[in-house]
Amino acid sequence: MKLYKDYSLLAHNTFGMDVKAALFFEYETVDELRAFLLSDEFDKCRSHFIHIGSGSNLLFAGDYSGLVMHSVNCELTVVEDTPEYQLLRVGSGYVWDDFVAYCVEHQLAGVENLSAIPGEVGASAVQNIGAYGVEVCDVIERVETVDLMGNVRVFDKAACRYGYRDSVFKNELKGQYIVTHVVYRLMKSPTFKLDYGDLRARVEAEGVPTLQAVRGAVTAIRDSKLPNPKELGNAGSFFTNPVIERKQYEALLADNPTMPSYSIDDDHVKVPAGWLIEHVGWKGQALGHAAVHDRQALVLVNKGGATGAEVMALAQRISEDIYQKFGIRIVPEVNYIV
Ligand SMILES: Cc1cc2nc3c(=O)[nH]c(=O)nc-3n(C[C@H](O)[C@H](O)[C@H](O)COP(=O)(O)OP(=O)(O)OC[C@H]3O[C@@H](n4cnc5c(N)ncnc54)[C@H](O)[C@@H]3O)c2cc1C
Repeated sequence: MKLYKDYSLLAHNTFGMDVKAALFFEYETVDELRAFLLSDEFDKCRSHFIHIGSGSNLLFAGDYSGLVMHSVNCELTVVEDTPEYQLLRVGSGYVWDDFVAYCVEHQLAGVENLSAIPGEVGASAVQNIGAYGVEVCDVIERVETVDLMGNVRVFDKAACRYGYRDSVFKNELKGQYIVTHVVYRLMKSPTFKLDYGDLRARVEAEGVPTLQAVRGAVTAIRDSKLPNPKELGNAGSFFTNPVIERKQYEALLADNPTMPSYSIDDDHVKVPAGWLIEHVGWKGQALGHAAVHDRQALVLVNKGGATGAEVMALAQRISEDIYQKFGIRIVPEVNYIV
């Protein structure tokens, strides 16, 4: 267990913000975490703390005057093994993509489409990460947590209330539980999901689909489309895709015949936020040291030396312009930390 004062968060956020935490606590075991939650040190910070993963979905407004907590628990154990599936219990600090690599290597199916998503296992269950037609909730069996008094609580999948990039941990129970382990159900016979973009063509070009081929194709597509945070600070998709009333969409189509949409239900459609950003002219444009990526309009980047406030100001300008032009409100997917 480690406790630091005035600790640099530069290595703990993919936006590359050079900010500090007044207090930083890092732990390996659930017992260490529970002991800390019962300490005077934590009591002083109870009203101003955040638990982070690798900071790939965070935007720090500036130095953080509270407590930042982080798990480096990288346990991985098989808790059930049947002819059809394995249940794997994984510590919250395990790097997500290393976990995907483990599954693919052991011929365990279900997470291969989620290859190369930054972050750690704990956040995967908070964020309900998704890509290429798969969401992590498809394979989550249960989520182990502790509350702020150190009591253990296990959430089955239904109790996590998963939705698009959403869970109970982001809403009703935000900040009340710390994810310590996630139990995933991985299948021994794969059901490939390839009907997304050009994934099928890429995978089938290699021959009969395999988990390795899917992982390789997903990683290659992502590398070609998304800026690498090690080279250009970013947090992936900055905004969620807005869901609007079908009537509003049909009215907008008259002036914007190329506006894409995905049907949600009889009355609602989802509109790609990247298309909206591009069509208000922000793609590739900068405001101070923050910019909209020139190939992927949904990604805001730190050109070097940007502050969180600059990125937030850019996001605000984009949202206002979209509202002015289309009457649609877009909201950040990235968590603002103030
Ligand atoms: C280049 C790039 C591409 C991306 N692509 C995708 C994508 O395809 N699909 C996708 O879904 N996301 C994507 N993301 C977003 C990001 O990778 C995910 O949201 C990821 O799950 C964040 O993990 P993290 O460990 O970095 O969490 P952080 O960003 O550190 O935290 C995210 C949230 O989870 C909470 N949290 C973290 N750990 C815990 C814990 N143990 N207990 C309780 N709460 C916790 C934090 O408080 C915060 O609210 C991308 C990001 C980048 C930079």
